[in-house]
Amino acid sequence: MPFSEIIGHERIVDLLKRTIRSGKIAHAYIFEGIPGCGRRKTALCMIQALYCTDTRDGDACGVCTSCRKVAAGNHGDVHLVSPLPDKRDISIDQLRELQRDLSLRPYEAPRKACILEPAERLNTSSSNSFLKTLEEPPGNALIILLTENSDILLPTIRSRCQLIRFAPLSSEHVQYLLEKNGQDSITASTAAQLSEGSMDKALALDSHSLAEQRAALGKQLSGVSLNRIASLFEASESLSGSRDETLENLDLLLSIIREHIYNATGCPFGSNNDHTTGLSAGVSLAQAIRLADALLETRRAVQRNANAKLALDTLLIKIAGIIPCPAA
Ligand SMILES: [Zn+2]
Repeated sequence: MPFSEIIGHERIVDLLKRTIRSGKIAHAYIFEGIPGCGRRKTALCMIQALYCTDTRDGDACGVCTSCRKVAAGNHGDVHLVSPLPDKRDISIDQLRELQRDLSLRPYEAPRKACILEPAERLNTSSSNSFLKTLEEPPGNALIILLTENSDILLPTIRSRCQLIRFAPLSSEHVQYLLEKNGQDSITASTAAQLSEGSMDKALALDSHSLAEQRAALGKQLSGVSLNRIASLFEASESLSGSRDETLENLDLLLSIIREHIYNATGCPFGSNNDHTTGLSAGVSLAQAIRLADALLETRRAVQRNANAKLALDTLLIKIAGIIPCPAA
């Protein structure tokens, strides 16, 4: 699992490789980003690159014994600390045990390393008990805190760590990773659209029900009479719900349109085009791009807490303007 396998965080990977080559590694890092965006994987890649017996240009070889142990999660010098199953927070006892482990001589690596996740589960007393370790980790150990929001951490913790911010993955990157995971391209495209940049979220989505939802939505919209305002408003009524439900419907529609755009541009996109019937059937590439723009604009408005029903009314009227009505 060398850095070359990290997708979508090229700037961070470059920075970490440069740091490793220079040997000027900080004691402690905060990797901030949503769960499933690649923080943990990048942390493990960093540890792998530090431990690898055959590093190349600041990156791990991925095949030496050390690399394989880190990737398999059974390297004796890597400690992963998370709240115990029945506990909310990372306890002081866990941190004491970690401090003890870090103060022992490494078994085989040049230094020990630990990943604390999620770091926002360090409460005030455990944070305070951890400060000294963060400042001067025993044996030059590397400490990486994973968090969704570093502002939640105590300022005394933040000031002792180098902060690295991870952006959510783009839906293209999520789709690529899902396909690499064996998902078919239509399912991967739909899940990617709904993932909000998180592989954890994308993998948790039920692919079967997603396909059904998409098909139902496509069918529902194919019955809309674009030249009848009552029909447009009925469709908008059925698409709107809570903010999250509305966003999910818009994401499903976007996945249908994106797929149509891929198909229209000759980009290979799976063999099953059943789901592109309905809304996007008979739509040209230029129209599909305008539809995608209108959907994205509506999505942004709903995200900013615009009234979902009004935003969808506007969207449906725009769609009617983009797609010409078949002659009666
Ligand atoms: Zn290696």
